[in-house]
Amino acid sequence: MSRPIEALFNAAALAHNYQLIQQRAPRARALAVIKANGYGHGVERVVAALPDADGFAILEIETAIQLRRNGITQPILLLEGVFSAAELSDCATYNLSIAVHSVLHIEWLEQAQLVRPISIFLKLNTGMNRLGFPAESAAQSVTRLQQCQNVADITLMMHFATADEPELGISAQWQRFQAATAGLNLPISTANSAAIFAFPEVQGDWVRPGVALYGSSPFAAKTAQSLGLQAVMSLRSQVIGVQTLSAGDTVGYGATFTADQDMRIGIVACGYADGYPRHAPTGTPVWIAGQRTRLLGRVSMDMLCIDLTPWPHLDIGSRVELWGEHLPIDEVAAAAGTISYELMCALTARVPVHNV
Ligand SMILES: *Cc1c(COP(=O)(O)O)cnc(C)c1O
Repeated sequence: MSRPIEALFNAAALAHNYQLIQQRAPRARALAVIKANGYGHGVERVVAALPDADGFAILEIETAIQLRRNGITQPILLLEGVFSAAELSDCATYNLSIAVHSVLHIEWLEQAQLVRPISIFLKLNTGMNRLGFPAESAAQSVTRLQQCQNVADITLMMHFATADEPELGISAQWQRFQAATAGLNLPISTANSAAIFAFPEVQGDWVRPGVALYGSSPFAAKTAQSLGLQAVMSLRSQVIGVQTLSAGDTVGYGATFTADQDMRIGIVACGYADGYPRHAPTGTPVWIAGQRTRLLGRVSMDMLCIDLTPWPHLDIGSRVELWGEHLPIDEVAAAAGTISYELMCALTARVPVHNV
């Protein structure tokens, strides 16, 4: 038998989450965001679980081309556009839509010789100050792009910085976007997961759900369950060793946990080389055989330690869930001082993924 760690992928949960998002944004089509290898779930697995998705959004052109070769026919948007003029030819050949976020992109489009025109998403900066044209220049860029024979059609796109934070919200960015694009009469794409759930008025023509698709809440103060989302990935392993401690004994590297009484602890086959966060402190929840226990001491490369003191019947072979169906990834992320996005993406290649 191999090392007992595995990630279980629940395709039905992913399809459920996609449908829930469609219900929340009934007038929009939904581009399933599959960047970072489908938030760590595996791009091809995610795409296969969403055969009826309206479209997909990704960063890497190589992966997009592979999806086309696999027979995927829905729109595919390259969220950061192309990184060289040469890539425009592949976009035309493989019918890939691109974000256009800089003057350089427009120049490349104007100078290219393409087999067919490309659909573009003109990315406007409304306050995130990452990628995009200043929103106020939208009309000018649209005019220039409409004169370019390599442009098939234009969607106006922006990204919210604080849609997940109730006290900050979206109003400044949304007002800036609306003011800058009034009268252009073009389709729009604005909403990420948080905006889909918190601000139905911005759903527009294309929503771009990411983390919610995978069953995690985009909000710190709302659980995924309360939004109706289901966990798509469960990280499971087993207890592979048991120790009994006396008061004063310590656990693991750095001896950061000291027993204050007699204890029984389990060693779980999961460490930071599997993608479990090394910074998760003592007390981080871990699920074992139907109940919750807590992490003890420092996470090491291949193992972590949990408290088994209350459960003398749990032993080597007991099944553990690090996050997933029984233990929300959002709780583990919060305990470790990070967000679910980072945990999902961090799952490493040595963890085998199996379908539920
Ligand atoms: C990653 C990303 C999304 C998805 O964000 P979530 O918070 O995961 O829903 C949407 N739009 C753009 C431009 C992105 O880069």
